[in-house]
Amino acid sequence: MSGESAVLVSDVVKTGGPVRLGSAEKPMLIGLTREEMGTALAEKGVPERQVKMRVAQLWNWIYVRGVSDFDAMTNVSKDMREMLKANFSIARPEIVEEQISNDGTRKWLLRFPPRGAGRPVEVETVYIPEEGRGTLCISSQVGCSLTCTFCHTGTQRLVRNLTAEEILSQLLLARDRLGDFPDRDVPQGAMIPSSDRKVTNIVMMGMGEPLYNFESVKTALLIATDGDGLSLSKRRVTLSTSGVVPEIYRTGEEIGVMLAISLHAVRDELRDMLVPINKKYPLKELIEACRAYPGLSNARRITFEYVMLKGVNDSLEDARDLVKLLKGIPAKINLIPFNPWPGTNYQCSDWETIETFAEFVNSAGYASPIRTPRGRDILAACGQLKSESERMRKTERLAFEAMMIAGHGEDD
Ligand code: SAH
Ligand code: SF4
Repeated sequence: MSGESAVLVSDVVKTGGPVRLGSAEKPMLIGLTREEMGTALAEKGVPERQVKMRVAQLWNWIYVRGVSDFDAMTNVSKDMREMLKANFSIARPEIVEEQISNDGTRKWLLRFPPRGAGRPVEVETVYIPEEGRGTLCISSQVGCSLTCTFCHTGTQRLVRNLTAEEILSQLLLARDRLGDFPDRDVPQGAMIPSSDRKVTNIVMMGMGEPLYNFESVKTALLIATDGDGLSLSKRRVTLSTSGVVPEIYRTGEEIGVMLAISLHAVRDELRDMLVPINKKYPLKELIEACRAYPGLSNARRITFEYVMLKGVNDSLEDARDLVKLLKGIPAKINLIPFNPWPGTNYQCSDWETIETFAEFVNSAGYASPIRTPRGRDILAACGQLKSESERMRKTERLAFEAMMIAGHGEDD
């Protein structure tokens, strides 16, 4: 913790207008499984014997080379490119705003075109660079239907689920903006070695509850971890859930990525209040699902997220009960200093209390890193995300910044 929070207002980089706005009318090829892509091509007249080869070509251009324009596909015949252009889209969403925090965290506000009769929607995606790795925090829904009382997103109603394409587009766009795709002059088929990538990890920890949008999240994550495409290792992809128990079982069986649980309380009574889905799936069921998560070992642990709320869940008794509750589960406990947002009644626990809590959990044998708040100055930290339609009015923002300067953000 550096204490350097004097300059709180970030550089705001407006991108100056729409960037390749995706078309709602033309179906997207991004976010389709190989089979679905093959069917889509066959329906537009691609001969059956060519379909597999064309899908492999497109897969490489879209996911390895990161192109967002059919004309860049130089080994595809002109006729074929015209057909693709006339019928499909691989465009990126519009960047409404790109902000860069003092600590290097980047936040994009993205706008997706309407689906059906709906309106355009906006979501936030956050990139967090760290020593030796870079993590992209991806949204799964616009808003959230759950109402965890300490979460800013929870104050925004659910607008809709994101499609698999919209979930993946967040990754593609971040890689574009970070220069994380190979240059055009790199030979066809070449990949950036994973050690040299800017985005090495992804976390489904943005807006929304990913397990309330299971199918699209599953499709997107299976494409993101496909070895012939984006090629992220499943060990570097973490899905965070507030505790949708039936889908935790399915996540283990059908997706196989790392799991994080937003725990935040160790007694049902308190968790019912902080994370209301607990009323439907109480702690006992949640912990059972965690114990059953496939492939757990010391090298493959579940992360339990625990937001530190002053006077609410931060006592030593809580720490003791936490250790008891997780007994026998290969676990890491991620202590998250509460990130304030305008209008909240919660406060972050004192730094000493967080350290005492962490030490207790640590001495019981659990890794208990305290998550350094990142990008707080641009409201990019956990639980601070909201979409443009619900963003702070200017007066609210100024009041918020004043509050941060007055000391609530001193541990940044
Ligand atoms: N809906 C999913 C994923 C998104 S939230 C979930 O709840 O797990 C990502 C993490 O940020 C969760 O652990 C969430 O509980 C936490 N979080 C939410 N609001 C927060 C806040 N104001 N300060 C710190 N962490 C917060
Ligand atoms: Fe939704 Fe997660 Fe926020 Fe709860 S913590 S309201 S589940 S985004």
